[in-house]
Amino acid sequence: MASIELKNIVKDFGDVKALENLNLSIDEGEFIVILGPSGAGKTTTLKLIAGIEELTSGQLLIDGCDAASMKPADRDITMVFETYALYPHMTVWENMATPLRGRGSQMDPAAIDARVQKIARILRMEEYMTRLPSQLSGGQKQRVAMGRAMVREPKIFLLDEPLNHVDAKIREELRKELHLLRHTIKSTVVYVTHDYIEALSLGQRIAIINKGRIEQIGTPWDVYFRPANLFVASHIGQPEVNRFVGRSRLDGSSVHIDFPDLGHEIVLPSGQFPNDNMDGQKIVAGLRPQHVRLSETQDERYQLPAEIVIRENLRTELDLVLRTGKVKLTALESPEKDLPEGQQMFLHLPEKHLMFFSKNTESRIDYQPGN
Ligand code: ATP
Repeated sequence: MASIELKNIVKDFGDVKALENLNLSIDEGEFIVILGPSGAGKTTTLKLIAGIEELTSGQLLIDGCDAASMKPADRDITMVFETYALYPHMTVWENMATPLRGRGSQMDPAAIDARVQKIARILRMEEYMTRLPSQLSGGQKQRVAMGRAMVREPKIFLLDEPLNHVDAKIREELRKELHLLRHTIKSTVVYVTHDYIEALSLGQRIAIINKGRIEQIGTPWDVYFRPANLFVASHIGQPEVNRFVGRSRLDGSSVHIDFPDLGHEIVLPSGQFPNDNMDGQKIVAGLRPQHVRLSETQDERYQLPAEIVIRENLRTELDLVLRTGKVKLTALESPEKDLPEGQQMFLHLPEKHLMFFSKNTESRIDYQPGN
């Protein structure tokens, strides 16, 4: 295990700024996920840690020592890329054992076998140990590639979208196995993905990266329920968070937020916004689709009329797109509900689930709803 500290890291490739002043501290033994869209700088971050690329400026510390003074080979780091490269003429067992059998290895054959079998058990590959890579499915090959990286227990383990090229079912299975590994291997793990479900499921903390900068670092709970800004709020969650643009005004001890496109105003106690002056602010409100409440009848709470325009039956939920005023929003319902396209509904937007952002800075406004 080793701690990793990235301080004010800049990485340019000619005119391309891949990383711009990136700061990230990773604790010894932590499993951290770096999440971000394509081109955000995720792989570049891993390559800098591994020593495959050099920093343009900034400082990288591994266990408190400046990595500039360490050769890549001395960093005790293993990196698994999204595409697996196995030795085609070696069996699964031999592929997995190679890192332990290299030149200068002091390990005796029984210890090597025990270590390979232990990892194979976690990855559920025991019955395939004598097969060649050509006799394996894509998901099994990726398991072997991960297994080969894990047998050695490096100080730092870097995983670059290891589940990218496997189909959805195997992806889910491997994700569960990665959970088991989290508890088994002692390495510090930096796991890169663009899949927010993988990030929420695996990361002790998640660093969200965009255009070479970290947007937020936090626990899965933090980034989902208290996103630092609109980018994080929309990047995490599917379907994407609903957004409504409004303007706030203060009236005594109440904040009125008017959403003209929605034809709706909400009134909240000003004390629920302890750190912001809410008078005359342009606001974006966010509400996750699973928090939109629907009713077929109008009452005090269910006031906003809306029409179902798209109904999509997904695996475990019914994904509905509704139009209300000039706004389209998404809601999730239980799939057994009989809610056809064209049906009129009434919406309730629960205050306790609303998130507010400044329209100008896109940063989250501290909002502390009552119960
Ligand atoms: P993806 O999810 O698509 O793999 P990523 O977040 O891993 O993306 P990086 O591969 O780190 O992104 O790339 C960050 C930026 O740096 C991109 O704009 C990319 O085009 C650029 N880049 C990366 N490597 C090089 C290189 N060797 N030469 C020039 N530009 C590069």
